[in-house]
Amino acid sequence: MAQAEQAAGSFGLRFDNSYVRDLPGAWLEQAPRRVPMPKLLMFNKALAEELGAEPEALEARAAEVFSGNLLPDGAEPVAQAYAGHQFGGFSPQLGDGRALLLGEVIDRKGNRRDIALKGSGPTAFSRGGDGFAAVGPVLREYLMGEAMAALGVPTSRALAAVATGAQVLRERPLPGAVLTRVAASHLRIGTFQFFAARGQGDMVKRLADYAIARHHPQALNAENPYLGLFEAVTAAQARLVARWMGLGFIHGVMNTDNMTISGETIDYGPCAFMEGYAPGTVYSSIDRQGRYAYGNQPQILGWNLARLAETLLPLFDADEDRAVDLANARLETIAGQFRAEWLAVMRAKLGLAGKEEDGDGALIGDFLKALEGTDWTLGFHRLAGAADAAALAGLFADPAALAAWWPRWQARRAPDFAVRMAAANPVYIPRNLRVEEALAAAEVGDMAPFHALLAVVTQPFGERPGLEGYALPAPQEFARGFRTFCGT
Ligand code: AMP
Ligand code: MG
Repeated sequence: MAQAEQAAGSFGLRFDNSYVRDLPGAWLEQAPRRVPMPKLLMFNKALAEELGAEPEALEARAAEVFSGNLLPDGAEPVAQAYAGHQFGGFSPQLGDGRALLLGEVIDRKGNRRDIALKGSGPTAFSRGGDGFAAVGPVLREYLMGEAMAALGVPTSRALAAVATGAQVLRERPLPGAVLTRVAASHLRIGTFQFFAARGQGDMVKRLADYAIARHHPQALNAENPYLGLFEAVTAAQARLVARWMGLGFIHGVMNTDNMTISGETIDYGPCAFMEGYAPGTVYSSIDRQGRYAYGNQPQILGWNLARLAETLLPLFDADEDRAVDLANARLETIAGQFRAEWLAVMRAKLGLAGKEEDGDGALIGDFLKALEGTDWTLGFHRLAGAADAAALAGLFADPAALAAWWPRWQARRAPDFAVRMAAANPVYIPRNLRVEEALAAAEVGDMAPFHALLAVVTQPFGERPGLEGYALPAPQEFARGFRTFCGT
């Protein structure tokens, strides 16, 4: 198999590969598959700079580097091992079947960040898959991650997208691509599950120590640092899912292998931003039961964290009953923690004044009832600028419900509610129809719509002239039939 060459240089990237160094047994060495005709589709120069790279030098060789054909000095590509519950069923071995961790770099701010390729060829974890990715899903992940970053949500970022010149076989042949993503790490709940399921308690402990040092050092202050770790992961993920809910974001595959220990969003597969508000909204073609529907995400958060707790039980206490009690005591708090994060998000979205009051939950709930069927993003955005409920009569399906709610909101909102709401409610999100159009064009070589859309969604707050169309939902005909696909 043709393999990557080593570059003469690191392009300024300071690699320091702690995962490989500290966690033997959690990865397998694997070189990327050489691609025939790498062509740079996207390069995130600002992010390259943030990472400490010499952006010009890197850009000049970007097609080779970000296809995996040329490895920067210091990169040590490995496939990471992990397990996971997928749609509720446990797979003891998943792992990077089409991704490779190139290594970690210390960025300009001193933060350690993973750089990984996705779509770089088969690995020992590929199972039935080919190890490749197609242009459409790669660009989708690029766009979604960058939009989320601009929205202020913890997320993996896209550093580059390269077309490989090879075809990948899906329902039809598609142009292949490799995505380079940057994340705080790729540690997942599923990484813990991998070792726990194999009875490797020593590896669970090493992993937990590693996760504490890398992501949640405050856990060391806890009486039991492993309980501290669990609490920190819970807090980070509860905050994350609350942010998703505020944006109408549906991850689509909240499997335990896709939920990070850092609390960043990763794995933008069949995700989408909800347009017409309905709690049961599902876009993913593979989510037939609606397990990961918009309104189910908070429950799934708790379910996934219970799976993490199971892997940590022996570290919570040597006595099993006692360990279970300790875990349960924490699991019981998750719904309340999520609720608090969610209330904070929703209070900001409605521009409510002062500290939380008893009636705020009901006020938010009643607004959401009135919002049903209305475009989530537009509903909140227009609310901030409307003189009265009547001004929104055309937007809300049930104007009477909104009118009844209005005086209660007026009584609770802050004097500067409009300013607060403008900072909490985006105007521009990656709308499904726009995304599909941009990806379809990119697939046949026209990157212009993608560039235009990326420029819109990476400045999501505040109306900008000429971009009105990007703020509008898709016509009913499109919205009704819209499905997202994993692209695997
Ligand atoms: P995902 O649903 O994308 O989070 O992936 C779940 C698992 O399937 C992971 O172990 C992936 O590495 C693996 N996988 C997904 N697509 C492919 C592919 N085309 N080839 C090999 N493995 C894949
Ligand atoms: Mg995944």
